[in-house]
Amino acid sequence: MSRAYNFNAGPAVLPVEVLEQARDEMVDFNKSGMSIIEHSHRGKEYDAVHQEAAANIRKLLNLTDEYAVLFLQGGASLQFAMVPMNLLGAGQTADYVNSGAWASKAVKEAKLIGSVNVSANTEKDIPTKLPRIEDLKLTKGAAYVHITSNETIAGTQWKKFPVTEAPLVADMSSDMLSRSFDAKQFGLIYAGAQKNLGPAGVALVIIRKDLAERVSEKVPTMLKYKTHIEENSLYNTPPCFSIYIMMLVTRWVQKMGVANLYKQNVDKAAKIYSAVDNSGGFYKGTAVREFRSDMNITFRLPSEPLEETFVKEASKLGMKGLKGHRSVGGIRASVYNAFPLEGINALVAFMADFQKKNG
Ligand code: PMP
Repeated sequence: MSRAYNFNAGPAVLPVEVLEQARDEMVDFNKSGMSIIEHSHRGKEYDAVHQEAAANIRKLLNLTDEYAVLFLQGGASLQFAMVPMNLLGAGQTADYVNSGAWASKAVKEAKLIGSVNVSANTEKDIPTKLPRIEDLKLTKGAAYVHITSNETIAGTQWKKFPVTEAPLVADMSSDMLSRSFDAKQFGLIYAGAQKNLGPAGVALVIIRKDLAERVSEKVPTMLKYKTHIEENSLYNTPPCFSIYIMMLVTRWVQKMGVANLYKQNVDKAAKIYSAVDNSGGFYKGTAVREFRSDMNITFRLPSEPLEETFVKEASKLGMKGLKGHRSVGGIRASVYNAFPLEGINALVAFMADFQKKNG
C-alpha cells in the first residue's frame, strides 16, 4: 500500500488507523452480521456509536450540561443560515467579523435573515490578515458576535479569541480539535467535519442550550437547533457513516491528546513557514506573520506558470492537493491533525530542490 501525502484542504487526510479500522469492520460491525451503515439508526449498535461520538466531543472540550452536541447536515454552509435563523431576533443586530472568504459567506447569509453589523473587515486585504481584537467595532446588546477561527483559503487563524459581552459564535470548520481552547467562552461553535473531524456529510454543532430557546416558532422544524437538541440529533435519519467515522477520529484524538496534536501542528507548520521565509523571496507567504494558520499554509512562487509546475512535480512525487483555492491561486499546504511529519519533510525537501532548479 502506498499512501499519498494528502495536502487537500477538505475533504482531507484522516488517520490511517481510523481508515483501517473502518475497513476491517465495514462488512460485519462488532459481529452483528451487518455493516454499521446497514444498521437502523434507532438500533443499539448505531446508538452506541452515536452516543460515543457525542461523549468524545464532550470530553475533549470539557463541556458542561449547559451545552448540547449536535450532528447536523447541510455542512458548515447551512450553519451560516441556521445561526441567524435561530439566534438573531427581530429588532436585534448581530456582529460579524469579515475576515475572509468564509466569513463573508456567513455575513451574506446572515444579511438575508436580519440586521448585521460588520465589526471589522479584512476580507480583501493582501497580504491576508485578521483584524486586531481591540479594533473590533462591537454593537452594544448584539444578539451574538460571529468569527471564523481559521480562514481556510486565506491561511489565517485567530491565535486568541475575543472576549465578548454577547455570545461568541465561531465557525471552526478548519481548525476544530487542532488546539485546546475554553469552550465556555463560546455560545455556539460549528464545524463541517471534512478536515479535522471525519468525512463530509456531517456538521458538528456545539450550542449553549439556552440560546436555542430564542428561535421563532415560524422557523422550519429541521432548521431549529431546539428540534435536534430535544431529539439528540435523531429527529430524522442522521448521516450515520460520517458520525461513525467522527466517533473513531475523536477516539484517536483522545488517544493522541489535543495538547500533543497542537504541539505537532505548530511544529509542522513552522517547518513549512521556515522553508518559505528562508528562500530569499522565491517563496512568499500570503498571510501576515502573526496571523499565519497552523492548518492551511499559503504561499506564492514568482509566477503562475512556476506555481503550476510546482504543483505538477510535487504530485508526481506523491504530494497531492497543493494547488491553492481556485479563487486566489498560489500554493496551499493543508496540514491537519492527521497529516504526518514525513510529508512535511518531503515537502520542505522538494521546495529546496525546486528552488535550486528554478530559482
Ligand atoms: N467554513 C470554513 C472555514 C470552511 O473551510 C468551509 C469549507 N472549506 C466551510 C465553512 C464550508 O463548509 P461546507 O462545505 O461543509 O459547507
